[in-house]
Amino acid sequence: MDGAERVVVITGGSRGIGRAVAMKFAEENARMVLLHYDPDESASSETLKMLAEKGIEKVESHKVDVSSYEEVRKIFDEIFSRLGQVDVLINNAGITRDTFLMKMSEQDWDQVLNVNLKSVFNCTQAVIRPMVKQRKGHIVNISSVVGQIGNPGQANYSASKAGIMGFTKTVAKEVASRGIKVNAVAPGFINTEMTKGLPEKVRNYFLSQIPMGRMGDPNEVAEVVFWLCSEAASYITGQVIHVNGGLFM
Ligand code: NAP
Repeated sequence: MDGAERVVVITGGSRGIGRAVAMKFAEENARMVLLHYDPDESASSETLKMLAEKGIEKVESHKVDVSSYEEVRKIFDEIFSRLGQVDVLINNAGITRDTFLMKMSEQDWDQVLNVNLKSVFNCTQAVIRPMVKQRKGHIVNISSVVGQIGNPGQANYSASKAGIMGFTKTVAKEVASRGIKVNAVAPGFINTEMTKGLPEKVRNYFLSQIPMGRMGDPNEVAEVVFWLCSEAASYITGQVIHVNGGLFM
């Protein structure tokens, strides 16, 4: 690894894939900042407890709406003034507001695009100048298989996730010469709260489309995210790595 004390910021770090990524970075004893949204802090408290059980105490959690440019600027100003740097940014926060396009409200569209895509702009822009100055850094954006293949009822979500792919490639090209790697991970159908609420029919349909015949575990996504931020992946930038059991090839 390139340093035992990296500062790692994970958006949506309170549960699901974000929590699994935090548990993975705990293995290198990283200094972590987790951002979440829900005023009910039970999920983020549980994550902090799980990290503490692993002996990780240099971790903090903040309630920040990552879709707000101002809130994001404020928290990153604080992070830089207290911790001095950000070495790894994982843009993971995301929501769904599924419905067919004919029924989709402007609010459903705006909310999903703002939380899933504008947040990636907000957070990446907040770290990019300092990362350019330090001549190193890793950014991993969590996209989705549906950004590639589409999915009925998810015009807003799939547009946001496809947007992440384009953003990732463009920023990767802009900063590659400064030692910064920008990649995306596109999970398939992963067992988290986001997929728990899906109707049985939709769940069964998805499962029937997955060659490996099962949902993914958040840890299987976290492994790839962590690897992309390691020396082992030192020549990889601008890529979208699919973690989907063969759902899309
Ligand atoms: P999840 O369990 O629903 O967790 C979502 C996370 O995002 C939570 O930590 C939540 O914080 C946070 N969040 C939501 N809105 C936010 C906001 N405005 N500001 C800051 N944080 C906010 O979802 P997940 O399944 O782990 O998904 C993580 C990422 O993977 C998302 O980008 C999702 O689109 C993507 N993904 C998931 C799947 C899947 O099958 N699960 C597949 C492909 C891609 P609170 O806990 O405070 O609400």
